[in-house]
Amino acid sequence: MITEVNKEFEFHQKGKYLVSNKIFLDLVFNNECNYNCKFCIARTKTYSENDYENWKKSLKRTFEIFGEEIDSIIILGGESTIDPHFFDKLEYLDEVTKDKHVFTILTTNGFMLKHENFLQRLLASSVDSINISVMNHNHELNNYLMGANTLSKEELKHIYDEVHAAGKTLRFNTNVARNNLSTVEEMEDYIRYFKGCYDAIKFTPLMKTDMFGTTDDVLEYTHKYVMEKEEIKELFDSLANRHIKKSHNSKVFGLINYGDLTVYGEHIILKYEQVEDMYDLDKVIPTLKIYPNGNLSNEWDYAKNILDDFE
Ligand code: SF4
Repeated sequence: MITEVNKEFEFHQKGKYLVSNKIFLDLVFNNECNYNCKFCIARTKTYSENDYENWKKSLKRTFEIFGEEIDSIIILGGESTIDPHFFDKLEYLDEVTKDKHVFTILTTNGFMLKHENFLQRLLASSVDSINISVMNHNHELNNYLMGANTLSKEELKHIYDEVHAAGKTLRFNTNVARNNLSTVEEMEDYIRYFKGCYDAIKFTPLMKTDMFGTTDDVLEYTHKYVMEKEEIKELFDSLANRHIKKSHNSKVFGLINYGDLTVYGEHIILKYEQVEDMYDLDKVIPTLKIYPNGNLSNEWDYAKNILDDFE
């Protein structure tokens, strides 16, 4: 089941840090992408250089230090599947985690999965679950929002069938914003339109991207279309009230509030909010990220390397 819910967590001391007993490790493979989404958090003013050798060293060291705590892995970019070292990195990850498999999720725009060889190689890897970003069920609008000729419904259906046959799971991720899926009816249309193409859908409110240091056009876009917290709550509660509520989970990984629903028989995840930053990140490790340059950080800062604190 693809869900981030029901993750009980607590903290213990390790070196100078209080460390979560269930760490969500983001592996940022690269910065580059073949899409041009208007809301992209990876389109930043400065970015981490790619350093494959250092990235591998850092991955190994991260598991030596935090192997017990790391609970799941999410592969991110840019678009990780266009990284020339994509499969090398997956193989190295396998090697590092061979004694204890860690549930691994790939987040992708799905473009490379149109290529049958690529798809089959991916499905033979130890990636357990795939998240594809699909903003809207109107293909033209989806292309506009993602700045690319995105996958068709038929292509998505084929990918889903193959993923399913391989015993893995597929989730669609989309943003809710003033100009995208901002009513219950639109959300229901999206769920119905793609029925049979996914195992779950996650709706996430568009966020202002200030904390990621994105380019001015992305900042301007997100400021213009972001919905207020109260509007999101009202929208999500309205959807939840019309369908079957399964659970509401607060502070998953200490950070996020989720709602889990069944809508037209499908598993729907509503990310209500990212809980406001309540940690002093000089002292606490709630999550970890390895950047393309090999730095290990506990926040969205590719220049920070907390491995230095464990030498
Ligand atoms: S697919 Fe992802 S990385 Fe690429 S432009 Fe869109 S949001 Fe950014």
